[in-house]
Amino acid sequence: MAKYIFVTGGVTSSLGKGIIAASLAKLLQARGLGVTIQKFDPYINVDPGTLNPYEHGECYVTEDGAETDLDLGHYERFLNRPTSQANNVTTGRIYQTVINKERAGAYLGKTVQVIPHITDEIKRRATLLEKENNYDIIITEIGGTVGDIESLPYLEALRQLRRELGKENCVVIHLTLIPYLKAAKELKTKPTQHSVKELLQAGIQPDILVCRTEYHLPKELKEKLALFCNVDENSVIEAIDAETIYDVPLLMLKEKLDKIVLKKLNIKNNLEPDLNSWKEFLGKLKNPTKEVNIALVGKYNELQDAYKSIYESFIHAGSINECKVNVFPIHSEMLESGEADAKLKNMDGILVAPGFGERGIAGKLEAIRYVRENKIPFFGICLGMQCAVVEFCKNVLGIKGSNSTEVDPKTSEPVIDLMPEQKNITTKGGTMRLGSYNCKVSKNSISYKAYGKTDISERHRHRYEFNNKYLERMEDAGMMAVGTNPESGLVEIIELKDHPFFVGVQYHPELKSTVENPHPLFVSFIKAALHSK
Ligand code: GLN
Repeated sequence: MAKYIFVTGGVTSSLGKGIIAASLAKLLQARGLGVTIQKFDPYINVDPGTLNPYEHGECYVTEDGAETDLDLGHYERFLNRPTSQANNVTTGRIYQTVINKERAGAYLGKTVQVIPHITDEIKRRATLLEKENNYDIIITEIGGTVGDIESLPYLEALRQLRRELGKENCVVIHLTLIPYLKAAKELKTKPTQHSVKELLQAGIQPDILVCRTEYHLPKELKEKLALFCNVDENSVIEAIDAETIYDVPLLMLKEKLDKIVLKKLNIKNNLEPDLNSWKEFLGKLKNPTKEVNIALVGKYNELQDAYKSIYESFIHAGSINECKVNVFPIHSEMLESGEADAKLKNMDGILVAPGFGERGIAGKLEAIRYVRENKIPFFGICLGMQCAVVEFCKNVLGIKGSNSTEVDPKTSEPVIDLMPEQKNITTKGGTMRLGSYNCKVSKNSISYKAYGKTDISERHRHRYEFNNKYLERMEDAGMMAVGTNPESGLVEIIELKDHPFFVGVQYHPELKSTVENPHPLFVSFIKAALHSK
């Protein structure tokens, strides 16, 4: 039987529940235990696929094509294991299941209610992973902050589950904030006391408090928290602000979070966590011998979370190259009035980001023209690849009206066009080309050199694709389709001949980069940028 750890959050959002959950999971995994993490999101969207990146940041796509919360990205990057649809549950999905069952007559005339029907469905989902796999420990992160109306059914389900499983099989960690009041020069425990009270009202006594703080917590403060919040003194854990999220597993190790959890769950494990490769990664990350400047040309730059996986991929690729990667977010709309050359001139490489819709396209085309003409390393992801094709067809092949039908549905030269199977789709949720697809890579290519193999599989999230009608003309002029899907013939990778590094991919390599497996294309892109310096 698996044991359960639940992580709730108090006081404010954005305290990093996902990072704490992933760090604890890493420590347990490093002790040889089978661990997975799931995220429960209290919003009513069935999944985050229909959300604007400004709302909750990037939409993370799993191997099986689920559009999920970006915390799943952290889980994969930390644990180096894929997640799936089952690892992300939303209130929308819970209600959808219950309502569908009601329509099918499954409740036999009963009144359908939050308790027990919604809570039963939450409990079923919470324990679903156990039935599918042989995990020792399942960590569940409950999104939102305790006290939110939306979180109540989750807390009630947790209360019931804990009663059913027994305390030695189900531990609750509450992540909270200890603010520092500058004027009083004091760390304050009151918000934490209140948020624990809020949990108690829901019938849940947390076992462990993980306290986010800017300053070290003095012993007396820990004692006070333990007394007022009714937890063991050794179960008040300090989570001090870290230089990088990748420090957090080691900080939690120092605080003995893993040991305390194992003791409470009655799991005997005297192994020392094997974190050698993690430490090696951190060592290189913190002691770079060189640096490069990379422009990230996108349109959601105000919010770093919108390109979370890309930023993290640069960190992984930087570490392995022992190179500090300075990423400069550049708003593509700022490049539209002819200053691309001036704005990009100090960059050693340019990545054009994924995205949707017409806004900012002209600036992306300008950035691509600049890197193509000046032989600066270029990496285009999804929309970035599509823009590279449009730019090439326009400016090199001279096909004036070249466009994507996403930008101009009536264009006479649809070099990027809606995939045939997309043409009759009218609903938006979960209907893109999603998840893992195979790709065959030509041997004579930069991508082959990076991957070191011809058969790869990568994750997708798009509706539009390269229009193969233009393939011959494009290749004759030097833009090569070096990766294609063997089943459908869809172009997955384009490269420019006679350019040190010009790679556009229809898929999302950033979703598969982890600490232990930095993505080969990001690694080669950084190498190329170093070279072009
Ligand atoms: N908007 C483009 C499409 O749907 C690209 C999507 C993306 O960049 N993820 O094909």
